[in-house]
Formats: sequence, C-alpha cells, structure tokens
Amino acid sequence: SMHRGYQVAVEKTNWDDVGGLAEVKKQLKQAVEWPLVYKSTFLRLGLKPPRGILMYGPPGCSKTTLVKVIASISGASFLSINGAQLYSPYVGDSEKVIRETFQRARASAPSIIFLDETEAIVGKRNLGQGGGSSGDSVQERVLSTLLNEMDGVETAENVLVIGATNRPDMLDAALLRPGRFDRLIYVPPPDVDARLDILKIHSRKTPVSDEVDLRVIAMLTEYYTGADLQNICREAAMMALRRDPDAEQVTMQDFEEALATIPPSITQDILDSY
Ligand code: ATP
Repeated sequence: SMHRGYQVAVEKTNWDDVGGLAEVKKQLKQAVEWPLVYKSTFLRLGLKPPRGILMYGPPGCSKTTLVKVIASISGASFLSINGAQLYSPYVGDSEKVIRETFQRARASAPSIIFLDETEAIVGKRNLGQGGGSSGDSVQERVLSTLLNEMDGVETAENVLVIGATNRPDMLDAALLRPGRFDRLIYVPPPDVDARLDILKIHSRKTPVSDEVDLRVIAMLTEYYTGADLQNICREAAMMALRRDPDAEQVTMQDFEEALATIPPSITQDILDSY
C-alpha cells in the first residue's frame, strides 16, 4: 500500500524539538509560514511564495526533522518521495510516482512534497556512463517529469516542494533555476550552544543526577551531529542500566563513557565541502 503516492501521517512536533539553528528556523518560517498566515498581504504586495526550498548540509543535522516540524505546524498535507526507494524494482514506474505525488498534492492542497535524498532522485545526468549520452535513462525521464511538475505548480495551488540533500554538488543544475528550488538553506552542524540544546532535548525524559553538566559534554563534542548527540543520550542511559539494573538516574560518568564509545560523524573535510 505504500508503494506509491507516499502520503504520510505527520507526528506532532514543533520548533522546540530542534536544538539550535535559530537562523535556519527563521528562514523556514518566513518561507513557509508567512505565505500561509499573511496570504492577503502577499497578494497585495505582489509577492510570490517560494515553490521550492532546498535544504543542504551534512547528514544527521535535522533536515528531515525540520521538514516534519513545518508539516506539523502548518497543518499541510505531507507527501514524501525517497530517493533511494524511488528506483526500487518494487516501485516500478518511477515517473508515474512523481506525477501521482504531484496530483495528490494538488488535490489535497495546501501541501508539502518532501524530496528526501534529492540527489538520489535527480542527480547529475550521465554520471559515470562513459560519456555516452543515452538521452533516455530512467533518471533523465524522472528529472524532466519533476521539472515539468515543478514548473506547472501554480502558486495559487499552494504546493511547496522541499528537498533535502547531503550532496548539493550532485544535483542537476536545472533544478536550481528560478521557479524551481528558489531558496537554498544551509543546515550547519550544531555549535556548542546548539549542542547543549540538543543534549537537553534528548535527555528531557531521562532523570539525570545533580552533578551532570551537559555543557561539559557540549564542549567536548565538536564535529558531532544532532544524531550523534541523540545517540550519546541513549547510550548514557544504557550505561546506567549496565552499571546498575536498578539505576534511577544517569550520572556524569555514564555520559562520559557514552561519549567515549561514540565517535563524531563529521570531519573538517566534510564541512569544507559545503
Ligand atoms: P540525513 O541527511 O542523514 O537524513 P538529516 O539532516 O535529515 O539527516 P535528521 O534525520 O533530521 O537529519 O536527524 C537525525 C536524528 O538526529 C533525528 O532523529 C533527530 O532526533 C536528531 N537530531 C538531529 N539534529 C537535531 C537537532 N538540532 N535537535 C534535536 N535533534 C536533532
């Protein structure tokens, strides 16, 4: 039943569930909430809401989570296409999936179409194909179908396309022309304050002892992603359990031992590539 269309139920989340990223949140609010909330002002001033927003940056730094927050808050229908799944033999006709997703989005507008792993959906044409221009690969047909649909989405229809990618360099340039992805938002890895925020968010439901100082952990975790920090919180609680099956609190030592077992996902080279 989930083979095509991909209308997805959205769990309730909000901006507070995402640590740090004040600037990114502000940009997203302006791009997504304002056109909905101040619709008549937009029309009056001749402003056009963006049709496509592309979020890019290192993996595990909350691009997907941010899209879910937007969908949850705006109450828009949420449709999702995953790059890795799109070309699976079980899915079959990939172009049809794209067309049908846009049809459904229009029919249930206002709606958001999320292109997860956008580079896997529409990567650069003819990569590694020995220079031979086939002109008719599935990837190329998917790209032209997507461009067609994005060009056809009238602003009045209230369909917003949001892409997320770790590899913006792999995207076909045609996607970045005006009227397609017209906002590009870099989602950076968390700085020390954001890391503290994220550690607090992911230990909200965990009793921690008084001597736990999450700021110390935040300072020791440069190059850790939000996903890494979430793992540290989970692992710290596991450490407490291993230490004492009757443990009631997670201690600073549990956090330190958890930190020692989980390496950072990001390197300076990865950051320099954006
Ligand atoms: P990928 O490109 O690998 O899909 P992503 O940038 O989309 O990564 P998410 O899937 O949103 O990242 O994040 C992975 C997990 O890490 C999420 O489950 C989320 O709970 C946690 N996480 C990441 N960043 C943050 C953050 N800023 N605040 C709170 N949790 C975060």
